[in-house]
Amino acid sequence: PATYRDRRVVVLGLARSGVSVAKVFHALGAEVIVNDKKERELCPEADELTALGISVLCGYHPDDLVTSETALLVKNPGIPYTAGPVQQAEAHGVEIVTEVEVAYWLSAAPIIGITGSNGKTTTTTWIGQLLGEAGLKPIVAGNIGIPLCEAATEAKEDNWIVAELSSFQLKGTSSFRPRIALLLNIAETHLDYHGGMEDYVASKVKLFANQTADDIAVLNWDDATCRALVDQVTAKVLPFSLYTRLDNGVCIEPPFEAGSDAEVARVIVWRKEDGSEKVILPVAELGIPGRHNAGNALAAIAACIAAGVEPDVIVPALKQFNGVEHRLEYAGEVKGVKYYNDSKATNPTATIMSVGSISAPIILLAGGLDRGSDYMELLPVFRDRLKGLVVLGESRGKLAKVAELAGLTNLRLVEPEEDAESTLRKAVQEAASLAEPGDVVLLSPACASWDMFKSFEQRGRIFKESAHTL
Ligand code: ADP
Repeated sequence: PATYRDRRVVVLGLARSGVSVAKVFHALGAEVIVNDKKERELCPEADELTALGISVLCGYHPDDLVTSETALLVKNPGIPYTAGPVQQAEAHGVEIVTEVEVAYWLSAAPIIGITGSNGKTTTTTWIGQLLGEAGLKPIVAGNIGIPLCEAATEAKEDNWIVAELSSFQLKGTSSFRPRIALLLNIAETHLDYHGGMEDYVASKVKLFANQTADDIAVLNWDDATCRALVDQVTAKVLPFSLYTRLDNGVCIEPPFEAGSDAEVARVIVWRKEDGSEKVILPVAELGIPGRHNAGNALAAIAACIAAGVEPDVIVPALKQFNGVEHRLEYAGEVKGVKYYNDSKATNPTATIMSVGSISAPIILLAGGLDRGSDYMELLPVFRDRLKGLVVLGESRGKLAKVAELAGLTNLRLVEPEEDAESTLRKAVQEAASLAEPGDVVLLSPACASWDMFKSFEQRGRIFKESAHTL
């Protein structure tokens, strides 16, 4: 990064990560220009940068923002490659990177990079706690925690940067080399941005591109796309699996059987290359429920092993982990009924996963922004798994229709009250009235929150408050 002294660096996108990148290059003596299409009033960070003497241009993309004089363009991951300044950079042959690449240049600490379609935040948070328990001084960064460049600036050689990485961030890397790379799974999402599955997979695979035989790649053996990468990866592979007995990796004994819910005592084991094995803990003692979370635990354990941690040390933190707020988060018990906040479940797949993780009778609270889906994929869950359903929000009518087709009679449709908070409170009261001791009330909306709330976080917080004041 020192080579950028006195040279021009353009930072595109003024979010938290953009601010941190701009400060880094300013401190290195580069001439930094920050640009965002948003109006200046919507960029509260602008003043702080201007005060440092950094040029901040808001409200439009100038036609001549990136020229042959520009040495580097650092792009916010959310900005598409079709945006004007990115096209200008391509035309002038200017290097285009994301904050992840810059963080790699700066960091004295090794990096654990976590990507995948689902489970990133949960697994990243868990790894942070496990490494902390093992005394390894983790710094959690990326989409959660602090911006990566901030983490990289702070990090000393004895830290570990634990970074949640999206495919958008990875697409803008060139020399980025995590010491430990995790690919959790690959589902067909974000295809609009990437223009197809191939580009999406290619972005994820960039995580491994610069690794050497000294590094470790943690791969999900249950996911065919991940498993197929084993031939492309230079790093040493440490696989994990819920369904296969691995000779070298972290897995379950006896393995889960696809589709079967049989209650069998299962343990997590690490089977080593030398043929020895180490039992880590019973699956039932993990801090968070659900088979998908057992998978996240296997990945997190593999990452710790790769970092040199002796598994016995992390057993307490595997048991005590409480999950991440709004992801199947236990929100307390009222009158013998347990409440779970899964507000982050913004699509039917996530709701199906969560409902499948709970064995008690469930009263589900669902509904939110209507994106035009008919929600028919929820029919089997409504028919087979629910004791009751309370629907609210824009999609309530459609969900009620699916419930009727499923023959679910315990159904309550909550009409909008004067404000969103009152509507959700009403819905929680309806759910409570359907529940008996031993039941679970689960907020897992299968829809985004923007029809009523600012964010899924706000929705989740109001749900928890409503449950606590019942
Ligand atoms: P991400 O950060 O990748 O969006 P999160 O950890 O925030 O993932 O989890 C979001 C939701 O995705 C969870 O509420 C759960 O329903 C689902 N999920 C979590 N882990 C997995 C997994 N390993 N496989 C499939 N779905 C998962």
